Amino acid sequence: MSKIAFIGLGNMGGPMAANLVKAGHEVTGFDLVAASCDTARAEGVAIAASAAEAVSNAEIVVTMLPAGKHVISVWSEIAPAVRSGALIADCSTIDVESARRAHAIAAERGLLSLDAPVSGGTVGAKAATLTFMVGGSEQAFAVGQPVLAQMGRRVVHCGDAGAGQAAKICNNMILGITMIGISEAFVLAEKLGLSHQALFDVASTSSGSCWALTTHCPVPGPVPTSAANYDYRPGFATDLMLKDLRLSQQAALASGALTPLGAEAAQIYGLFQAAGHGGDDYSAVINFLRGGSGA
Ligand code: NAD
Repeated sequence: MSKIAFIGLGNMGGPMAANLVKAGHEVTGFDLVAASCDTARAEGVAIAASAAEAVSNAEIVVTMLPAGKHVISVWSEIAPAVRSGALIADCSTIDVESARRAHAIAAERGLLSLDAPVSGGTVGAKAATLTFMVGGSEQAFAVGQPVLAQMGRRVVHCGDAGAGQAAKICNNMILGITMIGISEAFVLAEKLGLSHQALFDVASTSSGSCWALTTHCPVPGPVPTSAANYDYRPGFATDLMLKDLRLSQQAALASGALTPLGAEAAQIYGLFQAAGHGGDDYSAVINFLRGGSGA
């Protein structure tokens, strides 16, 4: 059992902290939103008056925050209060540059650190089936891996500082591009008089098969659990897909990588969001491709 501090008890962080309590750890949490603190308290998380207070006794600190600026702000605030030799792991999805800055903040204080973004969404956070993509030293990974494993199913060490965030945005760039490709194929099939089921039966067992098709099929019917069967309620919201695509474009620009399809995917999801569909599942982009606005 470890003493763990958890900062950011929102849609993802709340259930992740609850799973650490279930695993037998002593968890102290903090969030700016009182309602999130109340929900976590009901799950057995002790609530501190501030982030700095939450981390003061912790051997391991986990942060799960919206974006890079929040992570830099919180890590700057808590680093002086964390015990020397402790580990800080950030599980938020943020830009690679901010992740590396966060590692530097920890290193200045002699703390171990990991960037450990996740895949699997709120369902995975609740069920402890997340995949963690981890960047940081071997030593930090050895300390963090057993705790991360209690919130997920797979914990992959991707490399040094920032490598977890790099893996996350590369993976989600594949997902965004792929969903648009699948949606275009269904729209073309509709125009050609081919049924959704026929295209699915062929593509899912042929060279067009991929995870997005077989798990998040953008038309109702072939995959009963996909958001298309539930009026495109997320799932994985367009807002979050766009956030990740923009992070990958920012990284592509900074590193000089050529990603024309990633750029186009960010453009399409940006237009879809601007048409008022940020809260729809990302597979609803098929409606945009059918009609222009997605309405
Ligand atoms: P959320 O908005 O529900 O939770 C973030 C929490 O951070 C909020 O409760 C907010 O009050 C808190 N917070 C912000 N600043 C703070 C501060 N200074 N001190 C303490 N708490 C603070 O977001 P979420 O859905 O839990 O996502 C968190 C991260 O996980 C994001 O980076 C997101 O991109 C990533 N992610 C989300 C999903 C998903 O399906 N929701 C999936 C994978 C990754």
